[in-house]
Amino acid sequence: MQSYSIFSLARNALSGHQNWSKAWRSPPLKKRYDVIIIGAGGHGLATAYYLAKNHGITNVAVLEKGWLGGGNIARNTVTIRSNYMRDESIPFYVKSVKLYEGLTKELNYNLMYSKRSMIDVVQTYPKLREIKRRMFNGDLHGSAYERIEVDELRRRIPPLTGGGPESRLPILAGMVHPSAAVCRHDAVAWSYARAADDRGVEIHQNTEVLQLLRDSTDGSINGVETNRGTVYADKVAVVVSGHTTSITDTIGLKLPLKSFNLSAFVSEPVKPIIDVIVNCPDIGVYLNQSDKGELVIGGAPDAGQSFRRDIKQQVFEDAVCSMLELFPSFKRLKLMRQWGGTLDIAHDATPIVSQTDVQGLYVSAGWWGGFKAVPAGGYTLAHLIAKNEQHELTAPFSLNRFKRLDFILEAGTTTAT
Ligand SMILES: Cc1cc2nc3c(=O)[nH]c(=O)nc-3n(C[C@H](O)[C@H](O)[C@H](O)COP(=O)(O)OP(=O)(O)OC[C@H]3O[C@@H](n4cnc5c(N)ncnc54)[C@H](O)[C@@H]3O)c2cc1C
Repeated sequence: MQSYSIFSLARNALSGHQNWSKAWRSPPLKKRYDVIIIGAGGHGLATAYYLAKNHGITNVAVLEKGWLGGGNIARNTVTIRSNYMRDESIPFYVKSVKLYEGLTKELNYNLMYSKRSMIDVVQTYPKLREIKRRMFNGDLHGSAYERIEVDELRRRIPPLTGGGPESRLPILAGMVHPSAAVCRHDAVAWSYARAADDRGVEIHQNTEVLQLLRDSTDGSINGVETNRGTVYADKVAVVVSGHTTSITDTIGLKLPLKSFNLSAFVSEPVKPIIDVIVNCPDIGVYLNQSDKGELVIGGAPDAGQSFRRDIKQQVFEDAVCSMLELFPSFKRLKLMRQWGGTLDIAHDATPIVSQTDVQGLYVSAGWWGGFKAVPAGGYTLAHLIAKNEQHELTAPFSLNRFKRLDFILEAGTTTAT
């Protein structure tokens, strides 16, 4: 793998940037692999990388129907955090944040990782109680969450001029999650792809999986049918974000998932005005300022189930109105782009990283806030595929919880995904 550094940048500048080697290959598609991963998003590529790096399994094909990193990994608002509610969830996200911190070095790729901290603007007592619960629970698992008073909140977020005592929902307090960060989303996909390819993993773009294939004698998985022909493997992982059920439906496997649209939009670039991630859970909006100066803004998922990837007008208006309640000066901002993505959300709003009842078939799904989870999601799924046993961090995320009605209810703990 070509090393990226200030020296290689200077050297390549001298030759007009004509001599960079390709970041990953486009090899011919073979007939058989040890493992097929469906979906070259963050989770699929991270899984391929950790399979090769941690378990020495390199005869792996990642099949992607579009282009690498063109799904939700390219569509999210890049918030990385671990302030979850449940004992089962927090250690997993703490691990993911930790892995993110070292990823630029590990993958030799500038992820533009920036630790910003996230501040919740709390406007109702139920939310304050719920966040305080998260604070105590986070404390037990090494995820810090601290209360600040309104004056300090306004000092840290200067454009936050709404939410005064006369307003519909006056601000009560702020809660700070210091380890929250942002990083460049495309770079996460590209860096994992480059490092996986370097270890022998094959990434096949424009290769759509149309059907899962089962052995006619014992029913185990034995490959996939794609738009480029049949490819065989004894282990297949479905890692396709919002489209999991479209794939598992092809063998009649029902999963407790529903697909929803989540959207976001960005303003024109302005001078630095906010250096933290701001989350306003009571009114359903969150934002941060990108390195380019744009405000990156998101709201809650659209309540109606769908596979759409655009943005519904009323969802967009709700998010804008909410934002203007607290940040009235932003009404002068011009918005530049808006977009959406399809997420699948499990019935208890907790991810699924699991074997299925079909031998050899694995799923990683339910990632409605799954950008932050990419490193730990890939790390633990690789462990599961390689050893056929759950990693301790994702043991609670197995499908068995639905059989035992042992739900991990994370729903409603936050707006920021
Ligand atoms: C607007 C928005 C904002 C978000 N903000 C955040 C945030 O701030 N923080 C956070 O943690 N998370 C956030 N998320 C969620 C996060 O983006 C996703 O949970 C995460 O990216 C999903 O994992 P992934 O990267 O593997 O998915 P994807 O990048 O979607 O990868 C799945 C891949 O599978 C491919 N695929 C689908 N079907 C097939 C098929 N049949 N054959 C072959 N390939 C197939 C797709 O083309 C896609 O490339 C946000 C999502 C959206 C939409």
